[in-house]
Amino acid sequence: MTCLPAIFDGHNDTLTRLFPREANSPQSIFEHGTEGHLDVPRAIEGGLAGGFFALFIRSKPDQNPPEPERDDQGAWTWTPPAIDHDWALAETLRLLDSVDAMFAAGTSSLRRCLTIEDVRNSISDARLGILLHIEGAEMISPHCTELPMLYERGIRSIGPVWSRPNCFATGIRFGWPSTNDIGPGLTDAGGQLIRDCETLGIAIDLSHMNLRSFMDAADIATKPLIATHCGCHALCKSARNLTDEQLRIVADSGGVVGVNFYTGDLRGDGQSGPDMPLDRLADHVLHMCEVMGDDHVALGSDFDGAKMCDELGDVRGLPKLLAGMRRRGFAELAIAKIAHENWIRVLHAHLSPIANAPTHILPARP
Ligand SMILES: [Zn+2]
Repeated sequence: MTCLPAIFDGHNDTLTRLFPREANSPQSIFEHGTEGHLDVPRAIEGGLAGGFFALFIRSKPDQNPPEPERDDQGAWTWTPPAIDHDWALAETLRLLDSVDAMFAAGTSSLRRCLTIEDVRNSISDARLGILLHIEGAEMISPHCTELPMLYERGIRSIGPVWSRPNCFATGIRFGWPSTNDIGPGLTDAGGQLIRDCETLGIAIDLSHMNLRSFMDAADIATKPLIATHCGCHALCKSARNLTDEQLRIVADSGGVVGVNFYTGDLRGDGQSGPDMPLDRLADHVLHMCEVMGDDHVALGSDFDGAKMCDELGDVRGLPKLLAGMRRRGFAELAIAKIAHENWIRVLHAHLSPIANAPTHILPARP
């Protein structure tokens, strides 16, 4: 049997799971856990070489998010409330301190991915590659003042908006059957954030953007477009999924979409239960390959941030997914592109700073 290629993955919420604000039962990334989907021992078992590790800021404990709205046909929508900048910044700094301590304790098993060489090395050695990502940029003010500090602290990818409004863009509310064609596009600050990230060498993630923000970002961006964790709207009418037209726009830019493993974005029946065949995930991979070509498709699991199907379980199920793709007729070359090569190609472009950066966004030097 041919050996399966290592996987670089577009999205997980493992750091958010490991470092909750109320750490009553702290968990370690170095120990084989029984909760969640991902830690170092389980990543090794599943052939996960590295990925985008998100910092996600939850609502304040006293914010009481509203319940989803449902109609009698089974359709539902849910809009999480906005969060404020000071809260988001304090939480981000707390998470970054925890992440620094984690790296200090795990130099032999973790690799901080700051450059494309770090990403490449994470594929070829046994250390788990961690590329720090921000999901929802509420900790950044409209003039992007905090961006150089976040770069210095190791952030190399930013999704300007999660599924709630902020000063940069309109996030897609969750919903099924639903559309992402709601609300206005990027604000001026959102356009500036994209330009400043491109200049510094921080990847921009279009996941969770509504349609108009996505289109505005596609117009402004000069680097290949990235959507780290999305499914196909043609197969499942979740508002979070990308239409075929959006997939073609990403492909035309030379970009990549990571297929999200969340059952609710894959099943297509408005449910999110785990009784979904793993082959349904391969359906979404196949559809993206048909629409975009296999140079533009990757994986974006959402481990530790979403429900997985029972057949996959956790990160240890990744070999089953690749074996299933092989059974569906994917060639070895295509599987290697989807497993990690496509992420390396687009990250090569995104992690390279643009020369002659305007001085207002250059990181401070001691
Ligand atoms: Zn997400």
